[in-house]
Amino acid sequence: MPGIRTDYDAIVIGAGFSGLGMLWRLREELGLNVRVFERGDDVGGTWYWNRYPGARCDSESYIYCFSFSEDLLQDWNWSGKYPEQPEILRYLQHVADRFDLRRDIQFETRVTAAHWDEETSCWRVTTDDGETATAQHLISGIGCISTGNIPDIPGLESFRGAWHHTGAWPHEGVDFTGKRVAVIGTGSSGVQSIPVIAEQAEHLTVFQRTAQYTIPARHGTVDRKFLEEQVKPNYAEILEKARWSAGGIDVDFTERLASEVTEEERRAIYEAGWETGGHRFIFGSFRDITTDLDSNFTASEFIRNKIRATVKDPAMVEKLLPLDHPLGSKRALIDTNYFETYNRDNVALVDLKKDPIVRITETGIDTESEQFDFDIIVFATGFDAMTGSFFRMDIRGEGGYELKDAWAEGPKTYLGLQVDRFPNFFMITGPGSPSVLSNMPVSIEQHIEWIADLIADMRERGVDTVQPEAKAQADWVQHVNDVASQTLYMQANSWYLGANIPGKPRVFMPYAGGVGPYRQKCVEIAEAGYTGFDFGESAEERLAGGG
Ligand code: NAP
Repeated sequence: MPGIRTDYDAIVIGAGFSGLGMLWRLREELGLNVRVFERGDDVGGTWYWNRYPGARCDSESYIYCFSFSEDLLQDWNWSGKYPEQPEILRYLQHVADRFDLRRDIQFETRVTAAHWDEETSCWRVTTDDGETATAQHLISGIGCISTGNIPDIPGLESFRGAWHHTGAWPHEGVDFTGKRVAVIGTGSSGVQSIPVIAEQAEHLTVFQRTAQYTIPARHGTVDRKFLEEQVKPNYAEILEKARWSAGGIDVDFTERLASEVTEEERRAIYEAGWETGGHRFIFGSFRDITTDLDSNFTASEFIRNKIRATVKDPAMVEKLLPLDHPLGSKRALIDTNYFETYNRDNVALVDLKKDPIVRITETGIDTESEQFDFDIIVFATGFDAMTGSFFRMDIRGEGGYELKDAWAEGPKTYLGLQVDRFPNFFMITGPGSPSVLSNMPVSIEQHIEWIADLIADMRERGVDTVQPEAKAQADWVQHVNDVASQTLYMQANSWYLGANIPGKPRVFMPYAGGVGPYRQKCVEIAEAGYTGFDFGESAEERLAGGG
């Protein structure tokens, strides 16, 4: 066994899906002494913070879950086709209670710094209560989309009404009744919350920078018969299929090409996809929608025609038509009554490309051409994704090397799992992994299992440290870029590229090669003895060397 003396074998940051799953595996399978630090006062991560109206997941509920316990899979019953935020939070609370995880989680504790101590080969972690703790391994479960982006609009501090970011929503909720409300942003959070807020508010003004493609989710209650007859008896196969799929879901992608069929057939296929709803509209219709611009145009135009047919006011239609980026080049959206909402008398839409926000005032928002009064402003303006939450902590590796410096030109990782010169530091769903382009629990569990296997291997061999070789990391970064450059993702300003944060390096951060191929690479690397990873000396080697 390694000869390192620390407070814990591993410290895990965050108690969302990642942190809970990692804690369970390290404690129950490896018997490690683990401490989880969580800044919230309960488990849940994303689903603890994002309590805005309409918040739910885009993955269907039966596949949005942990797979480590067959009993849990069989016992838990989702009520919605798509899982809603309160229910996902209850699920994670249930997991924490059922597996007695809370006893190793320290809540209301934010990690402020983590420094690698070369003398003792361990991580020294500082928390906002001024305490420090040491551990051989440091594992980030901080999520990819957890540091809110509140745009730097002059005057926000002078606003006399209330304002909220969707990612830090008040636990007691927000009552919009009789209020004049602004929503800034029309990404996933905006598209979900706008229809719900519009129903309650006296008046809602949406400030849109980029018009969106969105597909009806066709949300409803879960199909019990499907769940009981097709899912529960076959959970193991369903999850195995998801693990090796492109997006972490158990659905077959069509092989059909948009160019192979007549226009009439194409329209019929899109219509059927629109009726089915959800992301199946894209992956169930044609394979080349996401790779070929001409094929993509047929799907984009179909959606634009749906907007034209749904929204009654032609001026509103003009603003809502997405024309400046291909479908799927930004995060694909699914909605409930999004475009229909713009037919309501109490909803207005400001096109920020034509009439930008100039300032926030005591009473509302001034654009170049208009003054608006509001009681509540909702920022649905997204996140400093993938790197922002790391940079909120002072993370230093060998020789005091700062993660901020290592990632100054954009995040650099090996497999999204580790960073050169940061020994024994692991990331669950880190940049350079497929995470955000997939059904998250499937990607999260793959990382958890892989990290746990590596730690088990190190313990078996009596090795104290592991980190990527510089070349392996550089090659992986290159591969991530090469794969991204073959996709349509490069054709839009999205948070995948850091384009939503002024000054952030424009680098495509996730791995677009697919969940299954990525898993295959991880398996091969492990089976070959962890190619590209550099292990410190084993206890035996140290003894032989007289160290
Ligand atoms: P987002 O996708 O980044 O959308 C942010 C919105 O705010 C965009 O419309 C953006 O415009 C706008 N915006 C940003 N800065 C602005 C500024 N300075 N002025 C005006 N508008 C501005 O953020 P999100 O909607 O919170 O979603 C983030 C991610 O979280 C999603 O992509 C998804 O991965 C995840 N999520 C998932 C779900 C779900 O499963 N249903 C729900 C919520 C979130 P531009 O487009 O022009 O940048």
